[in-house]
Amino acid sequence: MPPSPPTSEPPVLRFAPSPNGRLHLGHALSALTNERLARAMGGRLLLRIEDIDRARCTPAFEQGLRDDLEWLGVFFAGEVRRQSEHFGDYRVALEGLRRRGLVYPCFCSRQEVRAAASARAQETGEAWAVDPDGAPLYPGCCRGLDAGLAEGRIASGAPHVLRLDLERALAAVGEDLAYGVFDASGGVTYVVAQPRRWGDVVLARKDVPTSYHLSVVVDDALQGVTHVVRGRDLEAATDIHVLLQRLLGLPTPLYHFHDLLADAEGRKLAKSRGSRSLADLRAEGVTAAQIRHDLGFG
Ligand code: GLU
Repeated sequence: MPPSPPTSEPPVLRFAPSPNGRLHLGHALSALTNERLARAMGGRLLLRIEDIDRARCTPAFEQGLRDDLEWLGVFFAGEVRRQSEHFGDYRVALEGLRRRGLVYPCFCSRQEVRAAASARAQETGEAWAVDPDGAPLYPGCCRGLDAGLAEGRIASGAPHVLRLDLERALAAVGEDLAYGVFDASGGVTYVVAQPRRWGDVVLARKDVPTSYHLSVVVDDALQGVTHVVRGRDLEAATDIHVLLQRLLGLPTPLYHFHDLLADAEGRKLAKSRGSRSLADLRAEGVTAAQIRHDLGFG
């Protein structure tokens, strides 16, 4: 059964950038799409700073993105929520899942996961299974570890992540997971979520007691978000978000995925590939009005 659409009035949207670099045109497109849809629905647009990655996120980048958004003329309602100030909320959610036996520790490094996935592929003669982001699907090496043994390793300080036991999670909530995708005219289409294509995802990283998936789901609920507007690159991740919402007893917002901007080589704009930032463009004399116009918001 599809979830019933959120009924909260007025609608609540959020723009949720990570302060791990300067914003580029792709972020501007996302912020402006949020602004446009929030306006069209008479909704409130919130700002959330997704800064759980303590190594890559910096206060200077946060200041930079807030300056860029102000320059662009995108304004937000209410308090800004900074994820690094709410690790306790994610811990509570995780602990609930752990008590239900839906989470287990995994001691494998990324290289070990790759090696195990490749060995599995050779054994079965099948293609190396990858998740929608292209990473090897976790082959389950630590899933069956003896609980006492795992406790001992944790007590001795062995680095580990916490993974969701996907099959147990699906057994707990049932397989009929769906979510609504809304379009600019307010029409809603229901989509079946396919969390199996992600395997046993990481819910808590080695360095922080949460992950992107867990914190985004907890925060959307705590902030009362009814409509999530984000790029197509995060469309597949919604499969896991819907599953976590069901497991945690949280509402499922409606979703809207906007197209991504590509560079001259047809690749998605990315901070890591050095795409020109809004700050660079501003320094070159480009105006906010020009950017709005060029992105179709003029
Ligand atoms: N923080 C994510 C990003 O910068 C967006 C999160 C989301 O919209 O769910 O790509």
